[in-house]
Amino acid sequence: MKTVIHWFRRDLRLTDNTALHAAASTGAQVVPVYVLSDWKKNHRWTGPNRQHFLCGSLRSLDANLQAIGSRLILRQGDALAELEKLAVETRAEAIFFNRDPDPYGRAVEEKLEKMGQALGIAIKPFKDVAIHEQREVLTGAGDTFRVFTPYSKAWEKLPKPPVVPRIKSLATPAGLASLPLPDNSFWDLPPAAGGVLEAGEKAARARMKAFLDGGLSRYGEIRDLPAGGGTSRLSQDLRYGLLSIRELHQECLKKADSLDAKGRGSAMKYIAELIWREFYMQILWNYPEVLELEFNPKYRGMVWPGQMANLERWKNGETGFPIVDAAMRELRETGFMHNRTRMIAAMFLTKDLHLDWRHGESYFMQALTDGEIASNNGGWQWSAGTGADAAPYFRIQNPWSQTKRFDAKGVYIKRWIPELRDIDASKFQDPPAPGLRLAKGYPAPIVDHSAARDITLDLFKSVLL
Ligand SMILES: Cc1cc2nc3c(=O)[nH]c(=O)nc-3n(C[C@H](O)[C@H](O)[C@H](O)COP(=O)(O)OP(=O)(O)OC[C@H]3O[C@@H](n4cnc5c(N)ncnc54)[C@H](O)[C@@H]3O)c2cc1C
Repeated sequence: MKTVIHWFRRDLRLTDNTALHAAASTGAQVVPVYVLSDWKKNHRWTGPNRQHFLCGSLRSLDANLQAIGSRLILRQGDALAELEKLAVETRAEAIFFNRDPDPYGRAVEEKLEKMGQALGIAIKPFKDVAIHEQREVLTGAGDTFRVFTPYSKAWEKLPKPPVVPRIKSLATPAGLASLPLPDNSFWDLPPAAGGVLEAGEKAARARMKAFLDGGLSRYGEIRDLPAGGGTSRLSQDLRYGLLSIRELHQECLKKADSLDAKGRGSAMKYIAELIWREFYMQILWNYPEVLELEFNPKYRGMVWPGQMANLERWKNGETGFPIVDAAMRELRETGFMHNRTRMIAAMFLTKDLHLDWRHGESYFMQALTDGEIASNNGGWQWSAGTGADAAPYFRIQNPWSQTKRFDAKGVYIKRWIPELRDIDASKFQDPPAPGLRLAKGYPAPIVDHSAARDITLDLFKSVLL
């Protein structure tokens, strides 16, 4: 082959990139393209933080490609139409890309296959985003898993795909038109929050190294403390494919071998989280209807009776529940929220404010830098009690006792809520007396947790009748 296209999607890296490596291995010239979407302003599934991180990642990818003799070609619009134009323009004989688990990406892949047949171009999809894809991890009877623990046991037993080398050089045809590298104004979006992490493959690799050398061995102990910095902060890097999941998994196993029993336990706990990521991907792959419907059919059609005014209070971090408000303000100010407080904030929206999980799912996608359709939907349906292997509806976390367990000294709460900095942390562990506020300028709780809990139990019981 003389010329092939590599279509970059959520794999914005040169290291251990399966499809890119295969494209380069043909010996042909490679046209590395990314197709920018052409919507403007608000979008249901993204927002300023993610787009900012995407822009930084594209800038870094272009620089990395230039360093090996190539460059990134940027086009904008419908991916299929743009790929067709580019294929005709460059007389490409094949289009290489890594498969996507989400139904929108898959729909394009199907159409691309037909386009390839019509134009006589080879279409070359690869596994990359997950270690195990849609129907690789199956029960003895050949079915997909709906529960995490047996899924993860079966996942661990399967042989793992090898890591492929970083691309060292890439020849790309000269003279191809490309759009300039974008920033948020390209989509008429405001700038990102101040706390969004540095984008690009180099920054992601530095984060991975720092975590493997430090946090991994203590992950089991401190991962649940939102103030602690005890997690890897690699979710946005995995979302945009700045890191390869195969490499991360392999490096964790290698590191685990050098640790004592406790450290190894921590490393295994971390790998279990990486498996949760794949569990939710295979749920989305096999049950794409979860994006619209409750995974558990028993709860489909459920009507959430909450007041919409409370949605804004929740988004703004003004519910009067310090742990929830700290979480929502962390999200607003940094584009990130700790996993423990994601669960608390999500359960609060559904089980205390009785608002439909889809409102929260969509807001998280717009606000998170790591917004990822499969994990986000999985996390929301888990918290709402409607999802695959979800928390049962009657297991309702109490935000006050969660604070006592996971932020006893109020470090996280005080970091994000300046109004509460001078208040004794023990006051964050129980509701204030009726009519009282924790501090001037900070709201009284907008609901009573025990009363809200009873309403939730009745709500679920009524649909189970
Ligand atoms: C309501 C809700 C919404 C969520 N939305 C997202 C989302 O949009 N994108 C996203 O990547 N994660 C999401 N998660 C999962 C989890 O909160 C984040 O992956 C994690 O907080 C990211 O921080 P970290 O990289 O430091 O995590 P670490 O604890 O260091 O975990 C390492 C990696 O494992 C994966 N992981 C960890 N926990 C989970 C989990 N519960 N489910 C799936 N994968 C997991 C992530 O890829 C993460 O980067 C959500 C969880 C909940 C409860």
